[in-house]
Amino acid sequence: MTLKQQLITSGLTDGQILDSPEALLCYGYDATRQCGQPQLAVFPETTAQVAAVMKIADRESIPVFPRGAGSGMSGGSVPVSKGMVLSLTSMKNIIEIDLDNLMAVVEPGVITLELQEAVMRHGLMYPPDPASLAFSTIGGNVAENAGGPRAVKYGVTGNYVRGLEVVLPNGDIINTGNKCVKSVSGYDLTHLFVGSEGTLGVITRILLQLVPAPAATETLLLAFAEMETAAQTITEMVRNRIIPSTTEFLDHHSIAAIRDALPFSLPTEARTLLLVEVDGDPDTVSREAAAIRQLVASRCVLVLTATDKADRELLWQARRSLSPAIAKIAPHKINEDIAVPRSAIPAVLNRIEAISRATALPIVCFGHAGDGNIHVNVMLDKNNPHQTAHGEQAVREIFAATIELGGTLSGEHGIGNTKSAFFPLEWSPETIAVMQRVKKAFDPHNILNPGKIFPPANS
Ligand SMILES: Cc1cc2nc3c(=O)[nH]c(=O)nc-3n(C[C@H](O)[C@H](O)[C@H](O)COP(=O)(O)OP(=O)(O)OC[C@H]3O[C@@H](n4cnc5c(N)ncnc54)[C@H](O)[C@@H]3O)c2cc1C
Repeated sequence: MTLKQQLITSGLTDGQILDSPEALLCYGYDATRQCGQPQLAVFPETTAQVAAVMKIADRESIPVFPRGAGSGMSGGSVPVSKGMVLSLTSMKNIIEIDLDNLMAVVEPGVITLELQEAVMRHGLMYPPDPASLAFSTIGGNVAENAGGPRAVKYGVTGNYVRGLEVVLPNGDIINTGNKCVKSVSGYDLTHLFVGSEGTLGVITRILLQLVPAPAATETLLLAFAEMETAAQTITEMVRNRIIPSTTEFLDHHSIAAIRDALPFSLPTEARTLLLVEVDGDPDTVSREAAAIRQLVASRCVLVLTATDKADRELLWQARRSLSPAIAKIAPHKINEDIAVPRSAIPAVLNRIEAISRATALPIVCFGHAGDGNIHVNVMLDKNNPHQTAHGEQAVREIFAATIELGGTLSGEHGIGNTKSAFFPLEWSPETIAVMQRVKKAFDPHNILNPGKIFPPANS
């Protein structure tokens, strides 16, 4: 019996299994632009169907690559060998919004923005806000422990996951967590799956914490002549006990790329931008915004503020227009998402600037300054072997500098297969061995998303 026939015999329909070359091409890639070649792409609609797929895969030793929207930036859902892509996008129901316990129960294929909008209608907020929220799925967010601009105040996806239903690689179905505010019974398996990048189990149902939506928000765009002054300002806000809900920063390369397209004019001296947002009850918001304006009065070359949604959106354009705008600098980019302790931001940016000079490649830095997560974009032409070699060298040196400064290889995009070779830079052989034993306990035959996170055997 073919694999497709086995799947149909175990309860999937013909329409839930794609095997045309066009479909397999579509489901072989993610946002890294890598492309693998699966045998089949399968679209289960129930947990029982996911379990049936895994039982067959386990019996036949067929690799399975779980997939949400394929917006991952580290190759997590790319099928690196023959096998099945398991797309969870057909499981897209918001099952419950529990207004008494402030929780939601969702299937993994729910789009993040759709959940945010659904709970907002009840005056609630689901805080995690990856920039990909209009298309990425909650399942993918949980598997990557996705973060976003609001992480500085509200934390990342993992901080809101209270329980999971998971199909294990052998097809068993388990439940973790519950709706209790306090719950410490046994190992915290929920958070072992959070950020496990689809290597330990397939997440089929998610219990999420919600919070009351803030009544007011104010946005400030602050332009600085010096990057150090901007970094210092973030530290001083925190020292003054102001935790903005967002503190995004853009470096001078980013400013050069977007300057002409902005709906407001920026002084020529502006070399670093901070987009700061405070939220909460109206009194707190106006007090905190006033305190920030006072703090930066003598430091900024421009301060713009906005309270209503349309004006705030104009200020956000500086940040939102960035990714397409930097494509003008070079045809390709190597995009990494290092994170360092907040206090190490100036040091790491100075090191990156030096690496940029040494490799003669522009390196554009922007990101979530409030939580130390920086998107580092090495700009190059991959058709030029000289630039490719220098780009790879730049990435190695950036990772080494990051770890030296107490940072991590990824603040939010995960390791996947793009950073697996660098994993031993961050973790000792003993730590990696423990992680590999965890993987083996869940997936003894290594069929679930093989080739991710751990360094290739010969590296
Ligand atoms: C323009 C853009 C902006 C982005 N901005 C951000 C950002 O601000 N913050 C951020 O954190 N990320 C960001 N990302 C990266 C990406 O959107 C996130 O990693 C997101 O969480 C991936 O979700 P997805 O549904 O696309 O998952 P996929 O890319 O399909 O999969 C990601 C990983 O999750 C696993 N997986 C997916 N679903 C399941 C499941 N149900 N069970 C088990 N494993 C599963 C996959 O195997 C894979 O390892 C951005 C990406 C783009 C393209």
